[in-house]
Amino acid sequence: MSAMDICDLCGLKIGAQVWTVQHEGRQMRFCCEGCKGIYQMLNNVEDDPAGDGTCDGGKQS
Ligand SMILES: [Zn+2]
Repeated sequence: MSAMDICDLCGLKIGAQVWTVQHEGRQMRFCCEGCKGIYQMLNNVEDDPAGDGTCDGGKQS
């Protein structure tokens, strides 16, 4: 573990899988789909089908 991956909703460490949401130009990171969904509901963030869901080698920055 090098970087600190902390869920932007609940503050727990993010494990092997990370859920991301693009919000106002920032990439929010979540530990689970539930946290991601709650964040989206609270902030009226639409899902970005191109921004997540891919597992391997899909890094964009
Ligand atoms: Zn979380």
